[in-house]
Amino acid sequence: MPRRILFLGPPGAGKGTQAAMLASALAVPHISTGVMLRDAVEAGTDLGREVAGIMEAGDLVSDDLVVAIVDERLAQDDARCGYLLDGFPRNVAQANALDDAVTDAIGTVVLLDVDTDELVGRLLARAQQEGRADDNEETIRRRLEVYHAETAPLIDFYGDVVLTIDGVGSIDDVFSRIALALAR
Ligand code: ADP
Repeated sequence: MPRRILFLGPPGAGKGTQAAMLASALAVPHISTGVMLRDAVEAGTDLGREVAGIMEAGDLVSDDLVVAIVDERLAQDDARCGYLLDGFPRNVAQANALDDAVTDAIGTVVLLDVDTDELVGRLLARAQQEGRADDNEETIRRRLEVYHAETAPLIDFYGDVVLTIDGVGSIDDVFSRIALALAR
């Protein structure tokens, strides 16, 4: 099993859920820049205050900031034998920074594939349940635009190591597809 894995996919594809399940199955840390940034906002740190408005608008926070956060996290002991990255890299500049920062290449990229109508429906439903600040209709549209413009080019960037997984179905079904694809 590869132990340096990256999750890619549009907002609402289920990356966070599936990444957490896979990380625990593989016993590697689940490193989510979205979670780290939201934690900083909630804790009201300098970083949190700097990024809150950007996140609420659905835009990307600066590459320098996230690259620094990820570098620091990857330097921790528990990331030595592998990790699962979720939400980073989100553009080609971040992917190049990751390349420079780590000696071992990303072994596998799991791309969760979900069509746009399904994504919008899921994100609007999550907005009602969890009240995440960036889950309103305007921001959702913006995040999808940003995904297509900035993040989707990473599919070609990673090329051969990308496993495309159908992300529509129950959480367990999607997880089985991922596990099966990784075992091949
Ligand atoms: P999503 O559900 O949209 O995939 P995430 O939880 O991964 O959301 O990220 C939420 C927000 O945090 C993003 O819209 C962006 O503002 C910020 N963010 C997270 N990761 C990054 C990153 N690698 N680079 C820039 N901004 C990021």
